[in-house]
Amino acid sequence: MTLVVVGASLAGLRAVESARRTGYRGRIVLVGAEEHLPYDRPPLSKAFLAAGGPRVVEPFHSEEVLRGELGVELMLGAPAESLDTDVREVTVAGTAVRYDALVIATGATARRLPGAHSLRTAEDAFAVRAALDRGARTVVVGAGFIGAEVASAARARGLPVTIVEAAPVPLARAVGETAGAVLAGLHHAAGTDLRLGTEVEAVVAGGVRLAGGEGRLGSGVGGVVAGGEGRFGFEADAVVAGGVRLAGGEGRFGSEVEAVVAGGVRLAGDEARLGTGVGGAVAGGVRLAGSEGQLGSGVGGAVAGGVRLAGGEGRFGSEVEAGVAGGVRLVGGEVLPADLVVAGIGAAPATGWLEGSGVPLHPRDRGVVCDATLAAGPPGVYAAGDVAHVANPLFDGEPMRLEHWTSAAEQGAAAARHALDPASARAVATVPYFWSDWYGHRVQFVGTPHADEVVTTGDVTLYRRGERIVGALTVDRPREIMKYRRRIAARGRWAEALDFAGTA
Ligand code: FAD
Repeated sequence: MTLVVVGASLAGLRAVESARRTGYRGRIVLVGAEEHLPYDRPPLSKAFLAAGGPRVVEPFHSEEVLRGELGVELMLGAPAESLDTDVREVTVAGTAVRYDALVIATGATARRLPGAHSLRTAEDAFAVRAALDRGARTVVVGAGFIGAEVASAARARGLPVTIVEAAPVPLARAVGETAGAVLAGLHHAAGTDLRLGTEVEAVVAGGVRLAGGEGRLGSGVGGVVAGGEGRFGFEADAVVAGGVRLAGGEGRFGSEVEAVVAGGVRLAGDEARLGTGVGGAVAGGVRLAGSEGQLGSGVGGAVAGGVRLAGGEGRFGSEVEAGVAGGVRLVGGEVLPADLVVAGIGAAPATGWLEGSGVPLHPRDRGVVCDATLAAGPPGVYAAGDVAHVANPLFDGEPMRLEHWTSAAEQGAAAARHALDPASARAVATVPYFWSDWYGHRVQFVGTPHADEVVTTGDVTLYRRGERIVGALTVDRPREIMKYRRRIAARGRWAEALDFAGTA
């Protein structure tokens, strides 16, 4: 018997752990696209962005625990490429891995805005944090939870931040308009410039002005090592906040720098590396040509010598007089200057590898469509976490694709149990729950925002469907939210919930 778990993050890890907890002694293969051992994402937009926050990502378990105690075969840094449900095989890096039971836990991938950072992975977090460490003026595109947490991190450092949001209130889809308006108040109180009903046209390139006044505005700089004062603008697909900006292409880390400033680079701390070409950018620092690692060293500044503009035109020997910041151009033409642009515009299920496999994919977002037991169609195949649309019996079978930590953990554990013993499969009927930390406030939500009526007192917002309470959002009421969660799970009556809110 072989259990294959694809996706080595929260849901995948919980699947592995629960398989062993139930007494399963067979083979387990855990396949993960990232090089890292499974690690936790919520701190990436919280503690990791704080001044003085952690500088390394600690995995949930060490490799010894995973391989030794849990007896897991790890295939990391290797995305699953395809699935054949007839012969029960997953193809990973050209190798066929047979399964009897399969858990799909590939989560979601951040939707990208060309020229802006996303925040989904450890590498993303390091890049955003490096820019904040340099005191970046920040523009966040999208007033969702991640955008709000990035803005909080910037404000906590006293940095100016603007959030641009197309909708008239933040989080209208996730919590509804009433609660969204309450949450907008948290941004205003913290001094974040919240631009609602505002659309972004593009993240625009800055440029450089060469000595003598020759303007190269609008020309992305192809390979200047920036840092310190220099903010050599943003170019679509090429913003890297770690100090080295690569020209063109998706690849940032470990990619060749297209152009090196003649003279070399100087690393933070003023260690001179003159005459040394930059071999590639790596998270948190640079790797010098010849592979000598300088991890953790921010790049401190450009060494005079010149620049090569994107497109290859050489300007060697020209002194750079000034970097002209890029920013975010709004529909209507206004440009918000920015040293750091972060897009928090949602995530899409990572299911490209499942196309044509017979696993049903949602017509809108291509997430895996499951029944209430997490079964995803073909025999032995179950799904869990951010990737999965699951019919929730607590809410009239409403299909929900949740991007919440608790659901991913619960579903991961259940999916493995059900995949190993389909006869034992039961509906996973839990009340969705998430939390988020904004400007020192704890925002928590339980249930569903799809309601007939929404009532708010400011700190507490309740959602009614028929005669039942189906949702609650609170600000700084951690004990109460769990009481609402229990009421929702018990299909509690609306009138009683309102009474409780009045007395709590
Ligand atoms: P993911 O964590 O997305 O993991 C999926 C894994 O599968 C990834 O490692 C991916 O690389 C891998 N993968 C993708 N494709 C393949 C493939 N083809 N082959 C192999 N592997 C593949 N939730 C809350 O409730 N509260 C919070 O405060 C909160 N904060 C968050 C902050 C951030 C910055 C982020 C990104 C998320 C936050 N969340 C929060 C959401 C929570 O982290 C997610 O719900 C959870 O990580 C989902 O786990 P998952 O295992 O389903 O998917």
